[in-house]
Amino acid sequence: MVRSLSQWTKTLSFPARISPNRNSKDCSVNVLPITPPPAPPRNKPATSTTTCSSSNSSTMSSPSPPPNVPITEISQIVTPILSLLPFQIYPDPESEKAIMGSLVFCIHHKQGCKWSDELRKLKAHLNTCKHDAIPCPNKCGSQIPRVMMTDHLAFTCILRRAICEFCNVEFTGLGLEEHAGTCSSEPMYCESKCGARVVRGRMSIHRAKDCSKRLRRCPHCSREFSADTLSAHGATCPRSPVPCPQRCDAGPMARADLDSHLRDECKALSVPCSFKDAGCRFKGPRHLLEAHLESNTSAHLSLMVALSGRQGQQITMLKNAMAKLSTNYTGTLLWKITDWSAKMVEAKSKDGLELVSPPFYTSQYGYKLQASMFLNGNGPGESTHVSVYIKVLPGEYDALLKWPFSHSVTFTLFEQGTLGGQGGVAESFVPDPSWENFQRPSSEPDALGFGFPRFVSHELLNRRPFVREDTVFLRVKVDPSKIVAV
Ligand SMILES: [Zn+2]
Ligand SMILES: [Zn+2]
Ligand SMILES: [Zn+2]
Ligand SMILES: [Zn+2]
Ligand SMILES: [Zn+2]
Ligand SMILES: [Zn+2]
Ligand SMILES: [Zn+2]
Repeated sequence: MVRSLSQWTKTLSFPARISPNRNSKDCSVNVLPITPPPAPPRNKPATSTTTCSSSNSSTMSSPSPPPNVPITEISQIVTPILSLLPFQIYPDPESEKAIMGSLVFCIHHKQGCKWSDELRKLKAHLNTCKHDAIPCPNKCGSQIPRVMMTDHLAFTCILRRAICEFCNVEFTGLGLEEHAGTCSSEPMYCESKCGARVVRGRMSIHRAKDCSKRLRRCPHCSREFSADTLSAHGATCPRSPVPCPQRCDAGPMARADLDSHLRDECKALSVPCSFKDAGCRFKGPRHLLEAHLESNTSAHLSLMVALSGRQGQQITMLKNAMAKLSTNYTGTLLWKITDWSAKMVEAKSKDGLELVSPPFYTSQYGYKLQASMFLNGNGPGESTHVSVYIKVLPGEYDALLKWPFSHSVTFTLFEQGTLGGQGGVAESFVPDPSWENFQRPSSEPDALGFGFPRFVSHELLNRRPFVREDTVFLRVKVDPSKIVAV
């Protein structure tokens, strides 16, 4: 039985020379003396007992070893052990036997070897201990524990025989490490990320000829595309040639030029006659259009005449609509008469020259009225006065209105620029129901008016500021309340 080691065990170093079959490294051994070592002799001086060098011990161990013990074995193992012990030992056959009979663990105890036996059996054990290192049989120079040798030979020995899994060429371990990463048979993914796996040796050919991501130049527009998008580009490339969709004889043209070809040149495309808007219905290939135009000159001319007639009507309608928009429906007309002096000169030279105002209405659906003026007077005021009149014109809603017209009418001629309020001349009347002028008017344009032949004298007109900047303002106010406001 192995006793507790704490008291008796010493870890000792074996010099390499004592283990002839293991020439490279030091070993350690756990010595478990079964019996305490013998005490030093009593005649030994006390001073010298503390020295324990090997020379000392050799000089002191003068008695030669017993002849029946093989000196090479015992002395080689035991003497160095004894020399290191903290106390003096005098080898003798009895103690040597005792030491060699000590129970020891394998020197690879810490690595996991469970072997334990007498010291004399250690050497034999080490010859088979699976944790003991032996030289690599490939002579790579490594000392490898037996238990690791299979792995070493298979995977780490630099002189192992190794076959490249890709090209099946045999290498040494070192050679394979250098070969890895350069093997031309190793499959690898294309660097252009096309997704292809290609052996290294064919990669440059792949990238130049097969890779879907290699750059290719469009032969029509010279822009560069990856090979897998070039065909899609071809379907839209503005410079790629396409035939005319009308199958004219122009031949293939760049896609970008197609629109202008169809618009301006294509002989096969049906085009409408240039008089289409005037009503010509001809439509045919461009090369027939000229002949059509030549042989249809008079027809086209009639179409144009009819068109211009229609346009004239439209213009009239538009003018009426415009006039309506600017029509006065308030029942009060403020009539601004410009170029007064020229109009006065003209009136004096032409007998009965009448100036008429724009028509106005008493309300949106009311009576249509018009004021008129004789600058040189008429009737009793001729040559001395300005005469003013109002007439009822035929209106759109006359059928619904009350007749005769009975609203009061007030004419006011304003003085201009006067301080303290608007001065001027004003005259009013309320139509008498018996007066013919205010019956429902016929469609005759020369309806009679009613008003004041001597409205304002030329003398007053010149004296007071009625004319300013050659302009005169006359207000005509029509009021249904019949109250005469002067
Ligand atoms: Zn062992
Ligand atoms: Zn090796
Ligand atoms: Zn290879
Ligand atoms: Zn690729
Ligand atoms: Zn292109
Ligand atoms: Zn064409
Ligand atoms: Zn035509």
